[in-house]
Amino acid sequence: MYQLSVWEKESFLAHKDVIIAGSGFVGLWCAYYLKKKCPKMSIAIIDRGIIPTGASTRNAGFACFGSVTELMADSAKSGEEKMLQLVEMRYKGLKKIRKVFKSKEIGYEGHGGYELIAGIQGHGANALRSQIDVLNHKLRKITKKEKTFYLNDEKISEFGFAHVHHLIENRMEGQLHSGKLCQALLHLAQSMGVTVLNAIEIKSFEKINSRIILQTNQAFSLSAGNFLICTNAFAKQLLPQLEVEPARGQVLVTSEIQGLPWKGTFHYDEGFYYFRNLGNRVLLGGARNKAFDEERTYDMSTSEKIQQELEHFLHEKILPGKPFSIEYRWSGIMGVGTEKMPIIKEIQENIYCAVRMGGMGVALAPVIGEDVAKKITGR
Ligand SMILES: Cc1cc2nc3c(=O)[nH]c(=O)nc-3n(C[C@H](O)[C@H](O)[C@H](O)COP(=O)(O)OP(=O)(O)OC[C@H]3O[C@@H](n4cnc5c(N)ncnc54)[C@H](O)[C@@H]3O)c2cc1C
Repeated sequence: MYQLSVWEKESFLAHKDVIIAGSGFVGLWCAYYLKKKCPKMSIAIIDRGIIPTGASTRNAGFACFGSVTELMADSAKSGEEKMLQLVEMRYKGLKKIRKVFKSKEIGYEGHGGYELIAGIQGHGANALRSQIDVLNHKLRKITKKEKTFYLNDEKISEFGFAHVHHLIENRMEGQLHSGKLCQALLHLAQSMGVTVLNAIEIKSFEKINSRIILQTNQAFSLSAGNFLICTNAFAKQLLPQLEVEPARGQVLVTSEIQGLPWKGTFHYDEGFYYFRNLGNRVLLGGARNKAFDEERTYDMSTSEKIQQELEHFLHEKILPGKPFSIEYRWSGIMGVGTEKMPIIKEIQENIYCAVRMGGMGVALAPVIGEDVAKKITGR
């Protein structure tokens, strides 16, 4: 029988004040804010992957707070108040990222963001302009800008897009390197004294007196005073009652494009398609709305159907007539639900969850981390 040494039991695997499941952006920002509030608190983050393996290192790296059609669709579906609440959380989250990390550390570039509008139904320039005005008015108290979004159709031909009728610009949007951000956060948390353990899957948990005992896939269990579940799309495996479903997001990256005429982050079709420059290459993702059922999966592979659709989108709208090949393809798993609002709550005494980040977790995670740290520490 495998037995732990006394050294292991009294260090890496010792009882902790807080154990966090999941070392994606949410788990890491929670650890950061817990340590900021209570430097002496003992914290371990446990991840089943060798590196974080969900959405945080497999996304598109948009530092964004929503596009016009996305926000209008959110408002129609969940109400204006919730839409604005999410924008504010994302906006504040982006500010926190910029405050904690230097741009160079996390590959942050502020080239602005755009939304492509194709087809004219309901999107005649005047109708669109007045919709933008209404939204800008509502966003004013968050962004403090007269015009968060504005039409900039002149750039369509400059950028070389085809079958695009309008372009909406948002100068406040940026892009970052998700791998660098995740690694920088990990180093920061470790430098504050957080223990990070990989390749350990938490299988179940049970509260026994004042301790939470975590069964793992390894030959040992762990114990903590508080347990925080930040496993996002995979949350149902530990909390079957939660309304969180997996939603696969697929991505591709092209070869270098000679003289790529634009830089920035771009949204299309309520955010279901998104692309950005990665140096002189194009990173494109999305098209999940072309196969909702097939993409409701935990399987982190890519499918021919979606990849072909993405390539078609590139040829038709983004890089018409330009030669390119595809250098990378991958997918990541988002946690979604019928509601876009994340689930942040105390499940039972000393057991918390912060999950269901949808396609917004880069920006949301710092604010959620601070909120959860407040809930746990009462400070
Ligand atoms: C293709 C794609 C593009 C995206 N683009 C953007 C974007 O441009 N901007 C943006 O803001 N958001 C984007 N997102 C969403 C964003 O990436 C996520 O919302 C965010 O990363 C979620 O972070 P998280 O920490 O909640 O979850 P995750 O990063 O998924 O982390 C969960 C972690 O939990 C671990 N885990 C799971 N179960 C267990 C267990 N039982 N025990 C131990 N560990 C476990 C996993 O290994 C994983 O590392 C995108 C997502 C995808 C998939």
